[in-house]
Amino acid sequence: MHIHPDAPAVARALAPDEPVILNRPHAAARAARFFAAKFPGKSLYAVKANPSPDLIRVLWDNGISHYDVASIAEVRLVRETLPEAKLCFMHPVKTASAIREAYFVHGVRTFSLDTFEEVEKILEATRDAEGNHAKDLRLCVRLRVSSEYSELSLASKFGIDLADAGPLLQATRQVADWLGVCFHVGSQAMTPFAYVQALERVRAVIADAGVVIDMIDVGGGFPSCYPGMEPPPLEDYFAIIHRHFEALPIAYNAELWCEPGRALSAEYNSLIVKVERRRGDELYINDGAYGALYDAAHVGWRFPVRHIACANGNDNDGVAAFGGAIDTQDLQDFSFYGPTCDDADFMEGPFMLPAGIKAGDWIEVGMLGAYGAAMRTAFNGFGGGETVTVTDEPMASLYRGDRKDPRVSDNVVSLR
Ligand SMILES: *Cc1c(COP(=O)(O)O)cnc(C)c1O
Repeated sequence: MHIHPDAPAVARALAPDEPVILNRPHAAARAARFFAAKFPGKSLYAVKANPSPDLIRVLWDNGISHYDVASIAEVRLVRETLPEAKLCFMHPVKTASAIREAYFVHGVRTFSLDTFEEVEKILEATRDAEGNHAKDLRLCVRLRVSSEYSELSLASKFGIDLADAGPLLQATRQVADWLGVCFHVGSQAMTPFAYVQALERVRAVIADAGVVIDMIDVGGGFPSCYPGMEPPPLEDYFAIIHRHFEALPIAYNAELWCEPGRALSAEYNSLIVKVERRRGDELYINDGAYGALYDAAHVGWRFPVRHIACANGNDNDGVAAFGGAIDTQDLQDFSFYGPTCDDADFMEGPFMLPAGIKAGDWIEVGMLGAYGAAMRTAFNGFGGGETVTVTDEPMASLYRGDRKDPRVSDNVVSLR
């Protein structure tokens, strides 16, 4: 794979007519080292955020040994990429054949669940040839918790209610070699208090059930940086989680886990898109709602953008024409239309770009490593394009140590 210094250099070299995904392995490596060193427990990578084998190898090389997988295809993908990795099948509703293949072929022992039916299904699917139940199952009961502090809710689909969790934990304890409790506070949790509230629920459930708990998994939800979404430092999240974990009535050697998807992958990718047409403050670009900009279209997510000028307004006259300069003057708000023929292929933004931007120019859209590159489809014949590696910094980073603490600006998030 070709290595370029930055997005303008890619535009000069390739003059791309299709979207180009830019990989930043150094940024993903830094995120992995941060979690491996500073989270007071084990960090699993939630593969759905970005299943790129290149990314998964970078994370492994930088201290991430456990992977949260949710489908048999993700199990196979990580196993092929990393033969030694520990895989944890954390989707609470699985098919029996997926459980069977994961257990017998890929060595998966850790499974999550939120119903009695799923416990039964896991037990059945992992029976040996003589009909004996597996003795080495590591089972995690998923608890429903609030998503009120997060930008994207994960509260309605999975998780057993507090009131019903006691009997499920007791029944699961009977068949599990090792018992965990897991939850997910929703994605992009903008304050560590989200985890405090969830851990309070865990405390109530454990006290009620009276069973020995070997592991607490606080899930994903760790934020990244986007326009208008500047979270407090991750160290604050880790400190608060650790303090509340230590106060739980659990085994003295109980483990603490987390499952970041977004926080480990967001800085890994950006995307170069081409402006095909301008209509006032609307830009028609070549990626959108069915591509890497899914969240920009469907949940109004804002991503940082950077203009890459095509020097003379003509994109057909060769490499020498590209100025590649990054304008910072005279910015105005734009919205985007994606390439498909669907009206819903629209991204309101606002995206701040130079007033003089024109058809033939490019835009680099940043912070697309999580739920961006992973969301591309081939709908309407779009979704192609190259992937290259660049060496410059992502447009924002939680891991560089030079970020301004948002609590000292007016954008104050109350912490405790
Ligand atoms: C999606 C998901 C994650 C990752 O969530 P992020 O908000 O991206 O950190 C972790 N665990 C489970 C079970 C998930 O479904």
